[in-house]
Amino acid sequence: MAYIVGLDEVREIVSSSPSERPGGFIAMNVFTALFFFVFSWFREQACLIVCPYGRLQGVLLDQNSLAVAYDFVRGEPRGKLKKDEIQEKGDCIDCHLCVDVCPTGIDIRNGIQMECVNCTACIDACDDVMVKIKKPKGLIRLDSLSGIQTGKRFSFSLRVGIYTTILVILVSIISILMANRTDVEVNILRTPGMLYQVQPNNKISNLYNFHVINKTFHDMAIELKVKGIKGRD
Ligand code: SF4
Ligand code: SF4
Repeated sequence: MAYIVGLDEVREIVSSSPSERPGGFIAMNVFTALFFFVFSWFREQACLIVCPYGRLQGVLLDQNSLAVAYDFVRGEPRGKLKKDEIQEKGDCIDCHLCVDVCPTGIDIRNGIQMECVNCTACIDACDDVMVKIKKPKGLIRLDSLSGIQTGKRFSFSLRVGIYTTILVILVSIISILMANRTDVEVNILRTPGMLYQVQPNNKISNLYNFHVINKTFHDMAIELKVKGIKGRD
């Protein structure tokens, strides 16, 4: 609510009687009901269905992109760990813990999936298992598909360089815009459809619309003056 209507407005709504601000009271109840619904029942479906991040991943990732990934080279063939069994198996003991801890309920061993929100809970769970069975950590880790296949560590590729450059440019632009941000924004436009008017005292008048935005949280006195031309306001 504060994100949409501002903190001051929310403070007003919660501190005044519902009869004084029925609209705010109803909106607050709708928001509360909505978030209760999300947290109590909808849960991970908000990530899977509503949030666009997962869908964007398919566009942004390639085989060199770092993501939470299962090392199938090391892990397969998976199988339960049995005492005194001498069998050539991979490091995955098929304990299912990585699936159990996953908030979106996916099995990362099936590969990178749209539903993965990169929370890394499966990495922690699997690392704990690896410690217990005395195997190196990192069966599930942040790595790329080609990194897992070739065993090479992540390197700074051209694509990463381009993304980094774009990010630096965008951060620079937003920093400059924020540094040069003024407290007041004014738009002055001639009133649509109006030409100048010749007044009886041999003077010419023009009509303008002023749109003044106060970007601060406090009241401000504004004075408008005609500058640079002969005339009066
Ligand atoms: S937590 Fe690790 S060992 Fe257990 S099933 Fe997942 S990948 Fe395999
Ligand atoms: S990173 Fe999180 S969402 Fe992705 S597979 Fe692992 S536990 Fe699931």
